[in-house]
Amino acid sequence: MAGLTPDAVAAMQSAVRGSRDDASHRRLPRSKKVDGRFVIDPSLFPGYVNHITENGFSKLVKWRRGMRGQAAPIPTAAELDAELPVRKPDLDALAAPPADRVQATWLGHASVLVQWDGWTVLADPIFSERCSPFQFAGPKRLRPSPVNAAELPPVDAILISHSHYDHLDLRSVRDLAAHHPRSTFFVPLGLKRWFESNCAAAAVVEFDWGDELTLDERALGAERAGRPPLKIVCVPCQHWCKRTLTDTNRCLWCSWLVSTRRLTYFFGGDTGYCGEIWRECTEIYGACDLCAIPIGAYGVPAERWFHSPNHMDPVEAVECHRDLGSRQSVAIHWGTFLLTGEHIFEPPKKLAAAVAAKGLPPDSFVALGHGETRCFELLR
Ligand code: ZN
Ligand code: ZN
Repeated sequence: MAGLTPDAVAAMQSAVRGSRDDASHRRLPRSKKVDGRFVIDPSLFPGYVNHITENGFSKLVKWRRGMRGQAAPIPTAAELDAELPVRKPDLDALAAPPADRVQATWLGHASVLVQWDGWTVLADPIFSERCSPFQFAGPKRLRPSPVNAAELPPVDAILISHSHYDHLDLRSVRDLAAHHPRSTFFVPLGLKRWFESNCAAAAVVEFDWGDELTLDERALGAERAGRPPLKIVCVPCQHWCKRTLTDTNRCLWCSWLVSTRRLTYFFGGDTGYCGEIWRECTEIYGACDLCAIPIGAYGVPAERWFHSPNHMDPVEAVECHRDLGSRQSVAIHWGTFLLTGEHIFEPPKKLAAAVAAKGLPPDSFVALGHGETRCFELLR
């Protein structure tokens, strides 16, 4: 199958840039850059504490020192198999999603496939053994990937939240570009250059916070005919970026809002708690129907001070669900790679407790199993 033409990709990129000048409605805040690096503006993110670029090294040392003997034990293979079984998704169901519901499949860590109204949207795909620059070192999967790129149904949009290795995986990107030539990668500012150097075959469109793009058959060609337009919005979030020794915050980080007339889907990616942004998002774009919200990598109490600016815990994830007016949320960013000290089984237990403590229905924010597909009656 032929890939998207360079003209089609250029037209999408120019529509994204054009959205910055469209004054027809209020927009989310833009990103801010100082000396070539993106920064978190305290007026937008009042709760943020910068442990990354302000005395970053000494704080890193303090964190590592405080963590001695604190990390939870890694379960045995048998315990992992019993508590976090990995199922093969029903590939026929993925190839023919229902017309009257939205179908979500958790692929481990932050990778999630969401299908509705004829569209297939994949976020932060990682199928590799490790989230690291190397496949011989770095955090290793404790649960295998339930699928690979070739097994997925044709993907329309691939959302990338930021450049950390657990969200942007080179081998997965190359496999997707090879097996899904009609798909487009949507990335925050700065990452287009990374794709040009590492995977020139991929169609890539870059967004600043607040940028919008509406995909329709004019943008994507006749085979998408009959589908309702898909609107993509780049949403600010509270995080950071790094892939090499020198590239800290040279690329932007973001969450994504993807909607048709019948459903609004929010993909959180990786973020600290930033309720002001989410409440503003719902004021502008309306409440969300389906949200994929990160619940893991918050750490044990001894390291919570260090991680809380960049990673929510389950209590904050439930606040995020409420800020977004979410009708249904699914958990991501847990149960796959051990990035922090909390027990790998803990996040969904804390999530269930936080949902109950707020008096929400237990099914309103769920942790799916690895490879599990669930359909939700959310289409308006
Ligand atoms: Zn990250
Ligand atoms: Zn992450």
